[in-house]
Amino acid sequence: MTWGGGFGGGGGLGGGPGAVGSSAAAGLPFAGIPAELQSGVDRLVASEPEYETPTLTFEQNANENELKRLSLWSLLTKYPWMLVLAGLLVVVISVAGQVGPKLTEYAINYGMGGIPGPGHLDFGVVVAMAIAYVVFIAVTATAQRFSVQVTGRLAAWVMNDLRVKVFAHLQRLSLGFFTEEKAGVVMSRMTSDIENLQQLLQDGLSQLAIQALTMVVITIILFATNVLLAFITVVLIVPALVVASIWFKRASERGYDKVRDGIANVLADLSESLHGVRIVTAHNRQRNNVIHHRNVVGDYRDANNYTAHVNAIYGPGTQMLGFLGQAIMLAIGGTMVAHHTLSVGALIAFFLYLNRFFQPIQLLVQQYNTYQQGQASVNKLRALVDTEPEVTEATDATDLPPIEGRIAFEHVTFGYLSDRLVIEDVDLVVEPGETVAFVGPTGAGKSTLAKLVTRFYDPTEGRVTIDGHDLRDVTMRSLRRQLGVVPQEPFLFAGTIGDNIAFARPDASDGELREAVERVGLADVIDRMPAGLDTVVHERGQTLSSGERQLIALARAFLAHPRVLVLDEATSNLDLQSETKIETALDVLLENRTAILIAHRLSTAMRADRIAVVDEGRIIEVGNHDELVARGGRYAEMYETWVSQSDAASHTPA
Ligand code: ATP
Repeated sequence: MTWGGGFGGGGGLGGGPGAVGSSAAAGLPFAGIPAELQSGVDRLVASEPEYETPTLTFEQNANENELKRLSLWSLLTKYPWMLVLAGLLVVVISVAGQVGPKLTEYAINYGMGGIPGPGHLDFGVVVAMAIAYVVFIAVTATAQRFSVQVTGRLAAWVMNDLRVKVFAHLQRLSLGFFTEEKAGVVMSRMTSDIENLQQLLQDGLSQLAIQALTMVVITIILFATNVLLAFITVVLIVPALVVASIWFKRASERGYDKVRDGIANVLADLSESLHGVRIVTAHNRQRNNVIHHRNVVGDYRDANNYTAHVNAIYGPGTQMLGFLGQAIMLAIGGTMVAHHTLSVGALIAFFLYLNRFFQPIQLLVQQYNTYQQGQASVNKLRALVDTEPEVTEATDATDLPPIEGRIAFEHVTFGYLSDRLVIEDVDLVVEPGETVAFVGPTGAGKSTLAKLVTRFYDPTEGRVTIDGHDLRDVTMRSLRRQLGVVPQEPFLFAGTIGDNIAFARPDASDGELREAVERVGLADVIDRMPAGLDTVVHERGQTLSSGERQLIALARAFLAHPRVLVLDEATSNLDLQSETKIETALDVLLENRTAILIAHRLSTAMRADRIAVVDEGRIIEVGNHDELVARGGRYAEMYETWVSQSDAASHTPA
């Protein structure tokens, strides 16, 4: 969108090269973008690559592919060739990486006279073995390089798929989910759980496979070299190593649990104090907050200390076991060499392999932690992806044809929870072009009735129809295209004011946008903004007044040209001038449209064609203002109270 200047007369404060001429002509100081800056910007924009908007379709019902159960395996097997390549590289790394000590053994025995005998002192053998050693190292290093690349790419694709899958699922879920589930939990699924998986996929899984395979390869080589020595090693050292590893696994699991809880608490506390910063300052709670945060951070520090302590025992402990193994081997192997039952080369190879045997075990245990965390994250994400939307689109749903806008509640009963009804047997018809205001005490069910019209929820009994079509039989897209919703607290997205107004119709022309802005009386507000409609919205519009936000929401609804409007009147108190502006904008918006208006002020309700009084989930009175006042029922009572309060207020000295 390019909308530099303001509305109405004059060039306003908007930028753009045009501003130079108009302000100079008016004898005003120059307030536009300097030409040299503009040419710099133009050059930069010209060098920007063009990105095409992907032609993505979004289906309300998940397709077969998306319905596949989420598991680590299903995620990986989507890229079978990459998986096979990664597997092959794991084998190459594990085998080629363990050839070195065997070459050393051969060089010692047959090049350096390790086995006594003629022809066993051969410098050529030593050189050949050294060259072969270098070749195998090069093969291993190359395979490692490709392995990192392949698994990195595989992880990136899998994470991309997963993020899109979970996000698309969130878009499909019903409103009920978002009120019950805390936004923070969903955020943590999308951030920390997905991050955990990323770590596992990026190098965790391939490392796990490499270490496990390396251990198998070394065990086979040890037994092939000398069964007795290999057996002694396995019997003496491996059990001790297994016991230490089991202890470490348990202790570190406990530790990581504490660390995860700790960081979650630190973030939660930080986020709460940032959100509530105004209240904190107003009530002088800064000191208490610092004390509380110190405690939370302290718990996190203790958890980290604990894991450091566990690591400090396990790492050096297993190393010590390794040294012990070497000492035993020196004694037994040395005796065997002395008795010529073992070659010197084989003994040295044993030493080298034994060293290499411990490292994979340590790494395996550590990688196992990553694996478990990743697996736990998959389970949590699966639970999220398996959540069914409460409001689903029928598979044979048809598009709602262009409507006139006759809304009918037919014996509608509804409860958010099965054991508590919020709406009971409501019967009401709103004729095309009519505005019906819902009034009643707080918690009576007014907003709930509106949510049933927009099909955020489905009635438990009865049905809601538009032009005779049951809402459950039509596609959500076609329904919502013809419905406009103005919520109580308008939500402004990141972007410009213009983007926000054109939210429901991004393809709207500048002319249409201007019409919407002028018709709802927003033009002078936009004129006052530094860049007109291109002014960027900060912090969800918190820098705008609540009246301005409401007018933007009304302009947004106007531009969408819906046949039916559902409007929740804002409760925030506005000054008289803003209120008059909003009311005028409302009149423009409601013209020739069917509308349901949740009115919190009787002055608004009075403007509707009819008023429905809602009480404890039932409609107890319906009629226009005069009829209801004449009837002397609940509405008349509310009206009398309101009039007497207004009188009292107007007689109170300022
Ligand atoms: P107000 O004028 O204060 O906006 P209202 O008449 O619009 O009130 P509703 O928001 O429709 O009232 O709420 C009707 C009842 O349903 C209330 O008792 C409320 O506590 C309950 N309720 C609303 N939303 C939910 C929800 N998501 N889950 C459970 N109960 C809910």
